Amino acid sequence: MNEQPGRLWVVATPIGNLDDLSKRAAEILGTVGLIAAEDTRHSGALLARIGSRAPTVALHEHNEREQVARLIEGLRQGGDVALVSDAGTPLISDPGFRLVRAAREAGITVSPVPGPCAAIAALSVAGLPSDRFVFEGFLAAKASARRERLQQLAAESRTLIFYESSHRILEAVRDMAMVFGEQRHAVVARELTKVFETILSGSLIELVERIDADPNQQRGEFVILVAGASGEEADATLAEGRRVFALLCAEMAPARAARMAAAITGAPRKRLYEATGD
Ligand code: SAM
Repeated sequence: MNEQPGRLWVVATPIGNLDDLSKRAAEILGTVGLIAAEDTRHSGALLARIGSRAPTVALHEHNEREQVARLIEGLRQGGDVALVSDAGTPLISDPGFRLVRAAREAGITVSPVPGPCAAIAALSVAGLPSDRFVFEGFLAAKASARRERLQQLAAESRTLIFYESSHRILEAVRDMAMVFGEQRHAVVARELTKVFETILSGSLIELVERIDADPNQQRGEFVILVAGASGEEADATLAEGRRVFALLCAEMAPARAARMAAAITGAPRKRLYEATGD
């Protein structure tokens, strides 16, 4: 057995344009002993393009638990492993978290090979405040759960970033218009780095109308970015939260009332408690 354990490389791959694979990523993918890929067939095309002959093993959400132990054992024995996902940066709405956590717990060096990430690429061109932002990943497929999450985000003042698929892009932007208000500014970044890249910006209601009117705008992969709540919007949400909290307090314990009022209105729960002087 080798004295030195191997290293786990977390390698970002293109989100559309294959030329976005970095030179360093190509070098590492060409020299590691093993590549753990979300989908080995999908990554096979990229690996063939760069002439990598490294063996691949599948690591996806359904087998991550079992594969982790095997990969950690291989790393312990001295073999380097590269982790890639189908597109972009692994772990960002993609598998890999369990492997990275286990490697770090086992004292194995984990190194990033940074590169494309749809959320960051979209933020870099959206023209929305980028000093502070919140990455929300995918919203729930079920309308009720999706709206509930959006309610909880209604008073958030940082720029919001969501991933969305073609199946739900229209519904998602519609729900955002309903919950955040039709006039809130937003950007929909579609097919970034690909042939049909489009970046639409406007109020949420304008975006609903444009996406609804053009089936092409419902095709492909999307990042939705929404401006954070203005001070005024946040104040209005808090005022509504306090009103609902006061009504619920007549019927139930304050802790429960605050939780429910926060879920209903999107007002921060802690601020509702403050309102009572507790
Ligand atoms: N790990 C990836 C990353 O770093 O961006 C994200 C993987 S996630 C499973 C896939 C989602 O990312 C898509 O549904 C879409 O929301 C977004 N996405 C990926 N590529 C994109 C692109 N070229 N343009 C716009 N959104 C993209």
